[in-house]
Amino acid sequence: MEEKSCLECGERIVGRSDKKFCNDYCRNAYNNKLNVGDKNLVRNTNNALKKNYKILCELNPTGKTKLNKTVLLQKGFNFQLFTSIYTTKTGNQYFYCYNQGYLLLENDFVLLVKNNQDF
Ligand SMILES: [Zn+2]
Repeated sequence: MEEKSCLECGERIVGRSDKKFCNDYCRNAYNNKLNVGDKNLVRNTNNALKKNYKILCELNPTGKTKLNKTVLLQKGFNFQLFTSIYTTKTGNQYFYCYNQGYLLLENDFVLLVKNNQDF
């Protein structure tokens, strides 16, 4: 007979071979942990996006600012996270965190812009 162990506690499972957990307690504990992992992912991503937004607001009080990329990086800006992309007719891509956007320029410069329109 095939031996299986519980995904939660690692105990050997006796009985039906399709069982993944030794009891309901272990199954619930395992599933709750998975949900917590998903919640943490969403929360961490939201926090990082908010941080990005705060950095852009701080650095771009006038609504249009050109600065070096390193200024953003030093503040902990995460270039992987944004809420939308706007592509102009000429093919430039603005990455937005809510209504604060940026365009990557040559030589590691970044143009920060603020969009006052609703998306
Ligand atoms: Zn178990």
